[in-house]
Amino acid sequence: MVTTHNLGFPRIGAKRELKFALENYWKAQSSRDALQALGAQLRRRHWESQRGLDLAPVGDFAFYDQVLDMSFTLGNLPERVQGFHGDVLDNYFRVARGRSSQGGEDHAACCGGVAAGEMTKWFDTNYHYIVPEFTASTGFSLDPSRLVAQLAEARAAGVTAKPMIIGPVTYLWLGKAKDDSDRLALLPKLLPVYGALLDTFASQGVEWVQIDEPALVTELPPAWQQAFVTAYEALETRRVKLLLATYFGQLQNNLSLACKLPVDGLHIDAINARDEVAQAARELPADRVLSVGVINGRNIWKTDLTAALEWLEPLARTLGSRLWIAPSCSLLHVPVDLESEQKLDPEIRSWLAFALQKLDELKVLAGALNQGRASVADALAASAAAIQSRRASPRVNNPAVKAAVEKIDASLGKRASIYGQRASKQSSILNLPAYPTTTIGSFPQTADIRHARSEYKAGKLDDAGYRAAMRREIERSVREQEALGLDVLVHGEAERNDMVEYFGEQLDGYTFSQFGWVQSYGSRCVKPPILFGDISRPKAMTVEWITYAQSLTNKPMKGMLTGPVTILNWSFVRDDQPRSVSCYQLALAIRDEVLDLEKAGVRVIQIDEAALREGLPLRRAQWNEYLQWAVESFRITANGVRDETQIHTHMCYSEFNDIIASIADMDADVITIETSRSDMELLDAFDNFKYPNEIGPGVYDIHSPNIPTQDHIVQLMKKAGERIPAERLWVNPDCGLKTRQWEEVIPALTNMVAAAKTLRNRA
Ligand code: GLN
Ligand code: ZN
Repeated sequence: MVTTHNLGFPRIGAKRELKFALENYWKAQSSRDALQALGAQLRRRHWESQRGLDLAPVGDFAFYDQVLDMSFTLGNLPERVQGFHGDVLDNYFRVARGRSSQGGEDHAACCGGVAAGEMTKWFDTNYHYIVPEFTASTGFSLDPSRLVAQLAEARAAGVTAKPMIIGPVTYLWLGKAKDDSDRLALLPKLLPVYGALLDTFASQGVEWVQIDEPALVTELPPAWQQAFVTAYEALETRRVKLLLATYFGQLQNNLSLACKLPVDGLHIDAINARDEVAQAARELPADRVLSVGVINGRNIWKTDLTAALEWLEPLARTLGSRLWIAPSCSLLHVPVDLESEQKLDPEIRSWLAFALQKLDELKVLAGALNQGRASVADALAASAAAIQSRRASPRVNNPAVKAAVEKIDASLGKRASIYGQRASKQSSILNLPAYPTTTIGSFPQTADIRHARSEYKAGKLDDAGYRAAMRREIERSVREQEALGLDVLVHGEAERNDMVEYFGEQLDGYTFSQFGWVQSYGSRCVKPPILFGDISRPKAMTVEWITYAQSLTNKPMKGMLTGPVTILNWSFVRDDQPRSVSCYQLALAIRDEVLDLEKAGVRVIQIDEAALREGLPLRRAQWNEYLQWAVESFRITANGVRDETQIHTHMCYSEFNDIIASIADMDADVITIETSRSDMELLDAFDNFKYPNEIGPGVYDIHSPNIPTQDHIVQLMKKAGERIPAERLWVNPDCGLKTRQWEEVIPALTNMVAAAKTLRNRA
């Protein structure tokens, strides 16, 4: 008999209940008890829907982030929040989100202002976690209360509970030593705490614990490989069984290591590392479980169940009950329930599976393996029909688009002149001061905006009414920016629900779910559009809004677009053609938009590539191939313009050191980046003239409600000036302001503009 299990369930709720509850609580509109109750209700609901599985995960729920949860479980709180005397959950949110010092001086040490923890991407996903902070003197102490309480809840909900935790090596791997000490040196202090946690599980009667070590799919230095041996030998004698979970990629040279570790089972992502499963089956000792992730936990397509069975059946014959099956990774990265989608085109809908449907697929596979294919014949036939319909559909295949991609050549991606020549033509047109100020694109998505959009979508507001409402918002943004004295303005993106969905909605080859939300960080969710077919642009997408905004001001108005790589990386993409081909199709479509904006007289065009780095494969050996087509796609999009047109690009959450040559190769005239949380450290990559064009290092963190002081901004810009010549520096926030309130934005930007003036006067 094969065993079925799940590595993690989306926690945000099918209708984003958790998001709304969190935001109400943060706005002090609801109580902590209400938030806790909602959390419990979601957990219960999610376990109920996983009841048919042999084992369901516990501990996958988090109010903000599973890594931050782990930091609290391990008692690893940043020093700056250790003196807090309030509730633990509030302290947890203080680390997650930061806190401004409005509490007053008296409370500075206990509950005053505190910086948010650094946030970074969870492997190659669009989920962001709070980076554990270490110093040489970091100590750990166990707080198992969250997991113990949830274990009891899971049992009450009628599931066989499998607690899941992040393993000790990955936990250290994901963190950052604030004092540059060797964080691996903390392992001896960390292991007893893990040991005690496993003992706690044992005393609660737990049989299996899922211990996630996705660091094993990355390139590990020898000391870190050795750390796995040390760690799991130390944890070996515990009374619970450990399922070591890897996902998101191949283990490669860590595979033999993983097979030898003294654990009771190994989970391999059989979507990305299918080739390694046979080797694992050979190398794992005969008493170990091999769990294979056969259902893709990262996309929304139905599994070809027959093909999966062809592969699984021989494995089941070899392994017998040692074979477990599961999704490839936690289902955190997919939406909850396709049943909620009543507006999707029925044909396209028939090709899709969300979390609950993926678990159903898992059960069908288990049925076929345990009772024979005949026992699930109807389900297999339905799956085969869906796979066949998708493959053959004319809605997927557009020969004209395929032909255009075939015709792409190097000339499409080249500007007429080099940056130096372009810069002088641009500056004589734009007439900007030193340290020009700008913002990244979006202004607050106010309640009015959201209301107008929902009325419009519900058919209660007509086209003209909606357009008028958006124009009013654009006008408001322009007036505010003029009053603030910003130099290059933006229209504010009022009309955009989301920087990717907005474009996807206007491109052929895309479709949209209504409730297909996936958590990005904290309460933030994204609803990735579904790229299902060949991409084309039926008509201009942004020109009307940008030209309207430009008509309201004499200052240059930036046209605002999302770049092809980001659209790709933030969409659910096709699994029936290479990502590169989908990206080139997007590049050609957005290029036409760039040229239309230029034709309409727009002098500055920003093409956001926030997610360029996100697409990097986990292993360096594969980086070049990705960067080659990704950068070329951006160049095709951006570089068809005249010298006089200034191209900006923007990236967030990015480290640049290792990809700076590719970023430079994109050849944007100006790049704005996220830097403030890292205290301008990121700029080291741009040092020594490695980056030849202009740079706007973000001077304040838009994820936090804190208002930056003028002084702080001046200090940050001076640090930037030590690395980059002043004449190539811009002053701007880290990212777009859509999640902020105007009451936060105005004082922050006032200080930012004042800082730029101070810098100009000093120069
Ligand atoms: N232009 C976008 C905005 O301001 C950029 C967002 C992003 O980089 N994530 O919202
Ligand atoms: Zn950004």
